[in-house]
Amino acid sequence: MGHTGELALIQQLRNRSGRARGAVRLGIGDDCAIVRPPAGHELLVTTDFTLQGRHFRRDWHPAVSVGHRCLARGLSDIAAMGGRPLACFLSLALPERFSQTVAGKRWISGFSDGLLALGEETGTPLAGGDTAAAMGESILADIVLLGSCPQGTALRRSGARAGDTIYVTGTLGGAAAELKLLQANPRRFRQAGRDCDHPHLYPAPRLRQGDRLRSLKLATAAMDISDGLSTDLHHLCQESGTGAIVYADALPLHSLLNCLPHEEALRLALHGGEDYELLFTARAGTRMPKRIGGVALTRIGEITRGKEILLQTGAGRVPLIAQGWEHAV
Ligand code: ADP
Ligand code: MG
Repeated sequence: MGHTGELALIQQLRNRSGRARGAVRLGIGDDCAIVRPPAGHELLVTTDFTLQGRHFRRDWHPAVSVGHRCLARGLSDIAAMGGRPLACFLSLALPERFSQTVAGKRWISGFSDGLLALGEETGTPLAGGDTAAAMGESILADIVLLGSCPQGTALRRSGARAGDTIYVTGTLGGAAAELKLLQANPRRFRQAGRDCDHPHLYPAPRLRQGDRLRSLKLATAAMDISDGLSTDLHHLCQESGTGAIVYADALPLHSLLNCLPHEEALRLALHGGEDYELLFTARAGTRMPKRIGGVALTRIGEITRGKEILLQTGAGRVPLIAQGWEHAV
């Protein structure tokens, strides 16, 4: 993208990300950022790729949504551990000369809008990154999230035990349903704003909920639902060395699923990825609030002994096969 383009882009991000604040003692502009975690906390670190053609398409996703989703994925991982975000770092590879074209300028500005607005909203300053020209025509963004939580208290996937109750926050299947609508008619979503309920374009990472589950000691294990409930529940059970049973009738379906046949709605709720809700377990008998931070908590099943992961439907119990997002490599 050329040295001048690169410097201008960094300057633009630096101006827009503002003065160093919070845990960030020194932000964009030096060789490293300086971050001071709160006393007695340990660091949480996660990184996520956002690749054109795999995670988004220029002809489907508004640039604002790509920026939002890029940060939201990392924030959701921090939320799942019960942490608070401290700072994010963005490595961006853009096609040669992209930042000098009108369309490229507009895309970069929209992408930054989405990322920085969610950063502002969640107290996650952009504290650094890297910028380079991509080899081909595809955009590639890698985000690093730094978070923290009090030493020894992070919520892990491995803490579930037989007899625990399984919960999810919010609703399921909305992101997959909206993605289908987006594929069918991208133009309809061109002006979709962050302020409305857009589970695919603008997912809300459950930071408040994760933080409360941790600080109130309500959860025994937790993770975020990025690949789809069926796949992610397998991951949680694998780490905990348990099985599980999920009650199909109990699943909180997103309202976008209302107009779909029941089978299809159930399929999207179980296997559709990218809802970025929290999946967590609690000891039986825990007094679980109905909502945390304005988001409903729903009991969807139980952790069992053994290895089997089952789905209880009106017709009986069947194996719940992991059919969510599969990592291609
Ligand atoms: P260096 O060569 O020392 O790594 P760079 O010229 O790559 O430095 O970056 C200069 C400053 O700009 C650094 O503080 C870096 O973190 C920041 N920076 C570069 N690219 C980005 C980006 N895409 N987003 C945010 N900060 C960036
Ligand atoms: Mg340097």
